[in-house]
Amino acid sequence: MTTATQTKYEAIIGLETHCQLNTNTKIFCHCSTNFDSPPNTNVCPVCLGHPGVLPVLNEEVLNSAIKVGLAIQGKIARYSKFDRKQYFYPDLPKNYQISQYDLPIVEHGKLEIELVDSKTKEVSKKTIGITRLHMEEDAGKLVHAGSDRLAGSTHSLIDFNRTGVPLLEIVSEPDLRSGQEAAEYAQELRRLVRYLGISDGNMQEGSLRCDVNISVRPVGQKEFGVKVEIKNMNSFSAIQKAIEYEIERQIEAIGNGEAIIQETRLWEESKQHTISMRVKEGSSDYRYFPEPDLPPLEVSEAQLKAIQKLLPELPAQKRSRYEAKFGLSAYDARVLTDDRDVALYFEAVITGGASIKAAANWVTQDIAAYLNSNPEVTINDIALKPENLAELITLIENGTISGKIAKDLLPELLVKGGSPKEIVESKGLIAISNPDELAEIIDKIIADNPDKLEQFRAGKTKLQGFFVGQIMKETGGKADPKLANKILNEKLNNN
Ligand SMILES: [Zn+2]
Repeated sequence: MTTATQTKYEAIIGLETHCQLNTNTKIFCHCSTNFDSPPNTNVCPVCLGHPGVLPVLNEEVLNSAIKVGLAIQGKIARYSKFDRKQYFYPDLPKNYQISQYDLPIVEHGKLEIELVDSKTKEVSKKTIGITRLHMEEDAGKLVHAGSDRLAGSTHSLIDFNRTGVPLLEIVSEPDLRSGQEAAEYAQELRRLVRYLGISDGNMQEGSLRCDVNISVRPVGQKEFGVKVEIKNMNSFSAIQKAIEYEIERQIEAIGNGEAIIQETRLWEESKQHTISMRVKEGSSDYRYFPEPDLPPLEVSEAQLKAIQKLLPELPAQKRSRYEAKFGLSAYDARVLTDDRDVALYFEAVITGGASIKAAANWVTQDIAAYLNSNPEVTINDIALKPENLAELITLIENGTISGKIAKDLLPELLVKGGSPKEIVESKGLIAISNPDELAEIIDKIIADNPDKLEQFRAGKTKLQGFFVGQIMKETGGKADPKLANKILNEKLNNN
């Protein structure tokens, strides 16, 4: 064959996300959800599934589900119920999981995601549909001992502390088309639950678990291809890379005339590939039926209104406001609002009197760099309070200190805090803004460097930077930069 047709494929991706709620107690009993407890200490007859016990719904779980439902502009079911999903597994003492089947608490939601062009930093937006959101209980945790892996382990241990911890399962529409979109969707979901304060959204610790459904089809074809499920990704970059790998694998297989098998595959981070875990034998029959021990759920208009009032400004709303009201770029708005505490800090710096641009620069650059290099520190831990950062910025803006002095002071302020104004005064760091004093210093520098002056006047104007550097060196960074530049300019160009 000489004329191979180049078929173009597109990937169809949907995500199922399990989000662990941060309630103090489990979903159907009063056991603690604390994960630091010794194994099998946060258990009771209810979560261990003893005969004759009755589950009682933790109201906080329902409230959290409704919060997310309202935040994704979903339809909150006025009437829903719990169902039993039957299956046997050693980590499931009841032999069924209480979940929601045909009447989930939320349906038809949506989430706006942002995609950043890595080169231009340009941001585009896309809306992803959310099919449903339901409440369910987590299973226990199996620990395979005697080896790092299940294969080769000599025995398994079980911890029931996690049994009955509340989860929200959030299922997206198959609207995602790339690894980047899926990773961004998962991040936006995490931002949302963190803003709402209902989950820590920590992927490494399993508070946010994403399963990916993925198939490919020739562009223009209506029917979906055979879908494969990928599990075991514990970071956003792993989600992206697993999907990118899987898209290529499936396209290559189809190109080679192989059939795609409906199966569950595992992402192996160390080898950066997916491997087959189990082949799906049709759809599982869980024999769902309504949970007879829990009454149906009815949500009143008053309850919805009360919860609506509790919603904070959400990530997408904050981003739009930062762009529209603060005049920030979509990219800066995104960086500043990624973490709600950082956004609130930034807003407090502005309230403290700093200009928007300067506040944005300090928070996204110097403060962000400090937080990045000290991962155990959050913005709420740093000693530099927003009003003090505002004071520092004001000192620069009104010419009391140079930007360089401010940067020099920052490490101390971050750790010890205090009023920048008082520190500047006590250390004698106030800028030299006396024109005569500066002129004298500049005259001396020019006199000491006749060769540089000659070159400058011969057209090598870049040497201005050299002179500025000398002024800062001579004054210990205290020269008022605007004034110093003005005087320097006059002297350099005045022959
Ligand atoms: Zn319990």
